Amino acid sequence: EGNPIKDAVVVTFDDGYHDFADYAFPILQEERVPAVLFATTGFINGDLWLWPDQIMYAVENRGNQSVSFPGASGTLDKNLSDDECWNYIADFCLTLPPEERNEVICQLYRNIDLDIPNEAPDRFRSLSWQQVKEMQALGLTVESHSYSHPILTKLTDQEIINELKKSKEMIQTNLGCKVEGFCYPNGMKSDFDFRVKNALIELGYSWGVTAYPTLSPLADLFEISRYNAGASMEDFFKTVFGVKYLSMRLE
Ligand SMILES: [Zn+2]
Repeated sequence: EGNPIKDAVVVTFDDGYHDFADYAFPILQEERVPAVLFATTGFINGDLWLWPDQIMYAVENRGNQSVSFPGASGTLDKNLSDDECWNYIADFCLTLPPEERNEVICQLYRNIDLDIPNEAPDRFRSLSWQQVKEMQALGLTVESHSYSHPILTKLTDQEIINELKKSKEMIQTNLGCKVEGFCYPNGMKSDFDFRVKNALIELGYSWGVTAYPTLSPLADLFEISRYNAGASMEDFFKTVFGVKYLSMRLE
């Protein structure tokens, strides 16, 4: 309540993949570390799987084929690594509104003659509401990460409201908790704007988080910045003990 605590660390997780329950949550519990899960509610509800994963699944199953898709300036060579291919296509899709993005992804699948699975393949599957509910009972805080993980700045005002409202309601209905926080999908500076912030305020949200660090993380409660957990324990420690913050200040 009231002003946020200074010098606190909050551990957060995005999206709601099944491996959060398999790996992260048991460790958080053992170490008694509170955490926040930002849930993409359409994903957890089984209505959809995440579009970046749809791209990765296609890339991984392209076999020995070169990849082309609408909007590409050429064909992605078959010798590119999966990650390089994925980066290229995902970066392009970030610039598109949902319908165009879906069309690009469908065309990508058609070009490599692969069917899009209706449900997320195992490694990309979500948590279930039941699992989230069980973790919530053990202390997990759940907030919103939209309904379908779109790039919100590519949506109309009404579409923005739908994403923010639907996700809030689904969490409230399934988990019976108040939803006050929002995590912008993709979380970069260009992935939210005043329209998104105004809609959050209008719908009763109290704060929003981004996916990059800044020198004043709490200067705007609708733009609270975050650090990546990092790829190693050393990296993680540097983040939580403020070493990264200090080195940013010294730059
Ligand atoms: Zn996300």
